[in-house]
Amino acid sequence: MTSDQIWQPLVEELVRRQRAGRKAEFWLRDDDAVDPTPALDRLLDLTGQFAVPVTLAVIPAQTDEKLVVRLEEAPHATIAIHGWAHRNHAPEDQKKQELGAHRPREAVLDELARGLSHVTGLHGARAVPMLVPPWNRIDAGLVSDLGSIGFSALSVFGPPKPASLAVINSNVDIMDWHGTRGCRDHGLLVQAIIAQLQHAFDGGEPVGLLTHHLVHDELAWLFLERLFTVTARTEACAWLSIRTLIGRSAAGA
Ligand SMILES: [Zn+2]
Repeated sequence: MTSDQIWQPLVEELVRRQRAGRKAEFWLRDDDAVDPTPALDRLLDLTGQFAVPVTLAVIPAQTDEKLVVRLEEAPHATIAIHGWAHRNHAPEDQKKQELGAHRPREAVLDELARGLSHVTGLHGARAVPMLVPPWNRIDAGLVSDLGSIGFSALSVFGPPKPASLAVINSNVDIMDWHGTRGCRDHGLLVQAIIAQLQHAFDGGEPVGLLTHHLVHDELAWLFLERLFTVTARTEACAWLSIRTLIGRSAAGA
């Protein structure tokens, strides 16, 4: 299959959207930023070139002013809180979790409050009080306490569960974590995006693209460039900022 053939179904879906007078909505979350790196430069340059707002889930315990300085040239980047130290506290035979039920809840909530305060102190108005749990996992019993320590939104992966704060989940992960550890097959990703667009059309959530700039192979970068080329410059699509989505959720829309 040629690249054009791989992308044609999305192009056609967007044409249908446009004819129906509906916008196809996307947002982008990128995880694990800590410091300025060539990979982060590449992400910021690529998203900047296509005017795609990007939410960087930053690991609080490992980050400092260096990232703040780098982002001064990236007005399209917003910061969210990626746990505290991205440290696994689950036993070896369980899935990795920093925010599981393996420690006293006070200890976990204290860390999260510290993370929010540290990142907000560094990034000021660029930071949004949204928690992105490492490995997209958080003990369900902790979610109702997030509001009391200052969070107004939560972002994990997959269909959102009802919660006492805004839940803005990612739903299309471009990486093949259990196979090649590179980019997933482009054709399958295009299908996943179309499926999510159809779900959104029926009242579901927008496409929440999940990326991890530090581990992208060339196929991952190529996928993003193609996707932005197909979407970012057409009237049929909108790349939304996380603030817009949180605001909409708070308004109950
Ligand atoms: Zn992470």
